[in-house]
Amino acid sequence: MTDGKSHFSVAVLIVGAGPVGLALAIELGLRGVNCLIVDETDGQIQVPTANYLNCRTVEFLRRWGIADEARYRSFKSDYPNNVLYLTGLNGHELARFERPANGASAARWSVSPEGPLWCPKAYFDPILRKKATAIPSVQLRFGCRLERFHQTHNGVVAELIDVASQRHEQITAEYLVGCDGGRSSVRHQLGIKLQGGFASHRQLLVWFKSPLLKHHQFGPAVLTWILKPDGIALLSALDGGETWRTGPWLSQEEVDRRTPEEWVRLIIGDGIPFEVLGSGYWGGHHAVAERYRQNRVFLAGDATHLLTPAGALGMNTGIGDAVDLGWKLAATLQGWAGAELLESYERERRAITLQNIAASSALHNADKHFEYSENLDADTEAGKQLQLTQLGKLLLESSRGLEFKTGIPGIVLGYSYDESPICISDGTPTQPLEPNAYTPSTRPGARAPHAWLAEGQSTLDLFGHGFTLLRLGNWVPDTALLEATAQECQLPLKVTALEQPEILELYERRLVLVRPDGHVAWRSDEMPARPKTILDQVRGVAPANRA
Ligand SMILES: Cc1cc2nc3c(=O)[nH]c(=O)nc-3n(C[C@H](O)[C@H](O)[C@H](O)COP(=O)(O)OP(=O)(O)OC[C@H]3O[C@@H](n4cnc5c(N)ncnc54)[C@H](O)[C@@H]3O)c2cc1C
Repeated sequence: MTDGKSHFSVAVLIVGAGPVGLALAIELGLRGVNCLIVDETDGQIQVPTANYLNCRTVEFLRRWGIADEARYRSFKSDYPNNVLYLTGLNGHELARFERPANGASAARWSVSPEGPLWCPKAYFDPILRKKATAIPSVQLRFGCRLERFHQTHNGVVAELIDVASQRHEQITAEYLVGCDGGRSSVRHQLGIKLQGGFASHRQLLVWFKSPLLKHHQFGPAVLTWILKPDGIALLSALDGGETWRTGPWLSQEEVDRRTPEEWVRLIIGDGIPFEVLGSGYWGGHHAVAERYRQNRVFLAGDATHLLTPAGALGMNTGIGDAVDLGWKLAATLQGWAGAELLESYERERRAITLQNIAASSALHNADKHFEYSENLDADTEAGKQLQLTQLGKLLLESSRGLEFKTGIPGIVLGYSYDESPICISDGTPTQPLEPNAYTPSTRPGARAPHAWLAEGQSTLDLFGHGFTLLRLGNWVPDTALLEATAQECQLPLKVTALEQPEILELYERRLVLVRPDGHVAWRSDEMPARPKTILDQVRGVAPANRA
């Protein structure tokens, strides 16, 4: 090397090995795409934020072969995922939402082969990392920072720096994806702004060790809200044993009046031993990037959106971004996609992000109704009335209460790429979004529904690598021409026949074409005269208005 820098080349450079960067690497790696993930940290969890994997995310883990590891071999699988509202660990119970432990959550979600999981970051990130790095075409480098990049007509030239040695390295990639979190330097370098609402101050998070469960009688819970005269605080279980995270929901000025130790003492009450392990801050914004792409550079995860933790939609939305972008980048690199395919990433995912931001903000605002009022903790008749009626009722009937009861399946499973240029509308009207209810549908754009096939096999297990054409029922039109056309344009297509009448009823049409990410691209009872028109649109070759 004449310039003292080493040079290297990959198909996709992923900046950031958080959950979203790792999920993208898995999607690309499983399709044989050569990619490098770099992260400036040493891989240690800095702030233990995300805990909850929603049902859709766990369906993706199932496809990647790691759902059971997250369900049974991470957070204690028999620890109840209960949510409690208390006036204190030695106070009164205001509301209780019983939710099954990880090991039992799938049984409650009949619309999915999986169910949500409580899988704190300290477990989840290493599971993703292990999966990603086991794929031969994926490389992961910690202690490696992206300094800057520029785009050329056929690629991206990035400058990396090894944090320990300060050695510079230049790398060329066909695409770069910024999965580099809320402060994304990739987004800043592209000059892309976040639009939306920004919290006026930061919220404190403190994580600590304490034998809390031995010191109260409310039993195990993953989330415990504590309402006190000084404000509201949330306690989260990080390992099902003695590690916890908490933080008061107060203004910066109020928070700054106490040390993290003083906050823990105030929240858990006197007489319970504890040791603070660390502390940090979070923002509570609700904002989305004005664009998700500039030429060969894409953004995903927190780099494109910041949501409040309410509804646990931040990382889960980001993993949805990675799944959407992964197969489209792979298809483009493998040469069977048109330009519209990558263009559709922003169209599809930004609309879902806006929907999720609205849901998360509504839940966040619902929390503001839960305020301590005088007598709430009193052992008097007035206190009892207040506990039983006012607050308990409000919690059980509020949107927050509904979230804990239902798991918001309308948001989690019912999202649909209605306006996508690569999904072919059949004219059926869009379904209004109802957060607490999910109605299975094969309307183009929707997630193809789950039904059990043979023992332990779901319809969802049929989807993944390329497109899947389902032939449903015992009379199906001849699909030979469509199959031959797919072969001609190198679109990977698997044809599967399902004769069960109940699956035909669930899937609503005799022919359903499902994308690699499990969303429906097209459906009909008849074969189109020109299947090429269909295949061109779903692989992004034809502009939407020509199909
Ligand atoms: C209190 C709290 C609780 C939450 N709970 C949940 C929950 O239960 N469920 C949920 O879905 N979401 C939750 N979230 C949101 C969730 O934490 C984020 O959405 C998620 O971490 C975003 O993942 P990411 O991979 O996009 O970014 P990050 O996790 O921020 O990862 C970005 C990575 O990029 C690296 N990086 C940055 N710049 C560079 C650079 N120049 N070069 C190299 N590397 C770089 C960083 O080191 C980092 O590792 C919660 C958030 C908070 C604050």
